[in-house]
This record gives sequence, structure tokens and C-alpha cells, in this order.
Amino acid sequence: MKYDRVFNFSAGPAMMPEPVLEEIAAEVLNYRGTGMSVMEMSHRSKAFISIYEEAIADLRKLMNIPDNYKVLFVQGGGTTQFAMVPLNLLKDGVACYVETGAWSKKAIAEAKKYGEVKVVASSADKNFSYIPDCSDLDIPDNADYVYICENETIHGITYNQLPDTKGKILVSDQSSMFLSKPCNVEDYGVIWAGVQKNVGPAGMAVVIIREDLIGDVPEFCPVYMSYKTHADKDSMYNTPNTWAIYCCGKVFKYLLENGGLEAMQAKNEAKAKIFYDFLDSSELFKGNVNPADRSLMNCTFTTGDEEEDKAVVAATKAAGFDNLKGHRSVGGLRASIYNAMPQEGVEALVDFLKEYEANK
Ligand SMILES: *Cc1c(COP(=O)(O)O)cnc(C)c1O
Repeated sequence: MKYDRVFNFSAGPAMMPEPVLEEIAAEVLNYRGTGMSVMEMSHRSKAFISIYEEAIADLRKLMNIPDNYKVLFVQGGGTTQFAMVPLNLLKDGVACYVETGAWSKKAIAEAKKYGEVKVVASSADKNFSYIPDCSDLDIPDNADYVYICENETIHGITYNQLPDTKGKILVSDQSSMFLSKPCNVEDYGVIWAGVQKNVGPAGMAVVIIREDLIGDVPEFCPVYMSYKTHADKDSMYNTPNTWAIYCCGKVFKYLLENGGLEAMQAKNEAKAKIFYDFLDSSELFKGNVNPADRSLMNCTFTTGDEEEDKAVVAATKAAGFDNLKGHRSVGGLRASIYNAMPQEGVEALVDFLKEYEANK
């Protein structure tokens, strides 16, 4: 492989497209004749404002974002959104959450600090190995929103169908599936994503929010935690994460130039099929989750034996496949195959695992 890079199966921060990294490398000492890198540049400078505006415009094009939605770049990664969502959207009613794993649990725990929370469906009974039926949820009339984690990164499950929210607004944490396939933005009130899984460097979230949902927050709400603060100042109330905006902008453009989200979906489905077909044919390796709910991005699996799993992690690492260890909370193995993972990476991993199994 060029540059001696490894196939990096990390759940995040994760691989970025190589052509994007090359462009960034070429611009790092002198960004387009400015005599400085983007890291060293004022966020109020003409050069940076155009980086920002292009990033927003490209993301709008890529996701076909309607005019009545704002795109915000907010610092604090994904975790900050666990608090921002209830601080901004939970009024005097109830916040409804679907509990499908570690990330929705964190969101639930945070929301409980700010008001009444109702868990309207859960897959805790089977260790979050499936997406519960959300076709007829008991949503109270005074629900302020319905919240889902659309792809549970740690457990490896994803929604194939959005919940019926009974007319209430849907809020989705898309962190580990953002831009992996087309998305009908109008189905949501808020979409947010920590960018370090499928887009760029860590430390920032993209928030796509319907304009009428941006408004008053409780008196005690920190100024930085109000969506209005960010919306009113075009994400530059304070110094934004300029580097992340720049890198994400490059990825947005790269995706546009490479067929957009339809093309990404086709590639991602092909990659996931290669991996899951292998799992289904293997005697040694088993998938952890209900096949119908398998994530296209995070493939969780195990040999069923902790020591054997460890041996597999060590063997794969030695062979140039990095970060296959499952999350510490669930154990086992996990191959995260985001947009930037080439199909050859998945094929090479599958070949390696097949051979590992054959030599047992
Ligand atoms: C990684 C992740 C988060 C948290 O992101 P941080 O930037 O580490 O705070 C939240 N939700 C999901 C689904 C994630 O995968």
C-alpha cells in the first residue's frame, strides 16, 4: 500500500480518504498562496470564510438539505449533543428515547438531568443485539421529540426503517453512519453527527436542524449550548474548530466528486455483504446481532472465546489490519468499515480470517 498505511478498522477516529489526506498534506505549509496553513489562519479571514462557506454548500448539495434547515458546526464532539438536544428541545413535555445500546443510553442519562424522559422502546433484554419494533410506539401527546441513535457503533446495529413518531419530531444521532447513504432530511427535526467516525478529525459535530426548532433555551443554559448561539453567528460565535471544518469540507467535496451518497451506499452495501457473507459461512466466527439489523458500518463478531478473540486481534494487527478489537464494554471483535475503507481492505481482511480459520 502507498505510504505504508495499514487497513485501519478503527471505530473512530477512523480512516479518511487517501486523496483527501494527500490534498491536505500538499496545502499544510502554504494554503493556496496565503503563506500559512489553515491551522494558523484567522477564522475571520477571507480564505477561511470561503472554506467554511464551501463546506456548508457542499454538504447541503450532498444531502440535499432543504432551505429551512440550518447546518451548524459545533465543538465538543458527539457527547456535547447529548446535553444540547434536551437543553434546546425539551420544553415542558416528555422526551422520548429509543434505547438500543451504549450511545442511546448515554443520551438518555444526560436528558434525564433536564426533564422527563420516557424510554419508548428498548433492546436491552437481548444485550442490544437488535432494533426494537418502532412501528407503533406509545408516544405521549406532550412529547417534545423522539430520539434515536440511528447506528449503534459499539453493538453494530442500525435502523432499516425510521420509527413512526406519531407526528412528533425525530432527533437522530447519525455519528457512525453520517453520509454513508442517502438521507431524507425532511424526515427529521434534528440530525447530528460527531464527525470523527465517517468524515474527518475528532472534536466537532455537524448539526442539521429545522429552523423553527431553534429558539429559546432555559435561563441556566450555557450560552455555548444553545443552538441559537451557533445559528445566529454562522457557527462562529467563538473560534470554531477550523481544522475540522477544513478537513470535513474536503471530504464533502470528495464525496460529491465520487458519485455522492447513492454511490457511497452501493459501495458500503457491497463491502458489508462481503464481510457478513463470510461471517455466515464461517464456523469459527459468529455475528453478534440480528442479521436484519446489521450495521453497514460497524461489523461486530466473535469466536465466542475471549482468548481466541485476543489471538485474532494480535494476528490481524501483525498482518496490517489495525483496531479490530471490540469495544471494551462488549468485548469480541469489531471491523468498522466506514466510507473511507476500500473494498480491498475488507476483502483482504476476509481472506486473512478465512486462512486463520483454515489453519486452526
Ligand atoms: C462516537 C459516538 C458518539 C460520541 O462522540 P464523541 O465525539 O466521542 O463525543 C456519539 N454517538 C455515536 C453513535 C458515536 O459513535
